[in-house]
Amino acid sequence: MTHNAMFYSYKPKCRQCGKAGSKECDTFYGDEPYNGNQILVKEKKHEWADGRISYTSTTWDGETYKLNGGKFCTSSCAIAWANDNAIQPREAD
Ligand SMILES: [Zn+2]
Repeated sequence: MTHNAMFYSYKPKCRQCGKAGSKECDTFYGDEPYNGNQILVKEKKHEWADGRISYTSTTWDGETYKLNGGKFCTSSCAIAWANDNAIQPREAD
């Protein structure tokens, strides 16, 4: 889905609209709350019908950000920028 995404060790902003990039997060699923060395961004506890408890944990390394459109927040922004900057298309044969 986001195969154009590019990753940064600082918080980048879209070359077209200036919107800031988002944190590049990982998601873990487990029976216990997250206990690793990444920053816990979000954690959701889920209680199953049989009484089992599980956690969905979203973590961030504290450094990595991404822009889903590479140097742009979205592919729409990338296309808008390209259309502003590219030379006119040639006439087809
Ligand atoms: Zn943008």
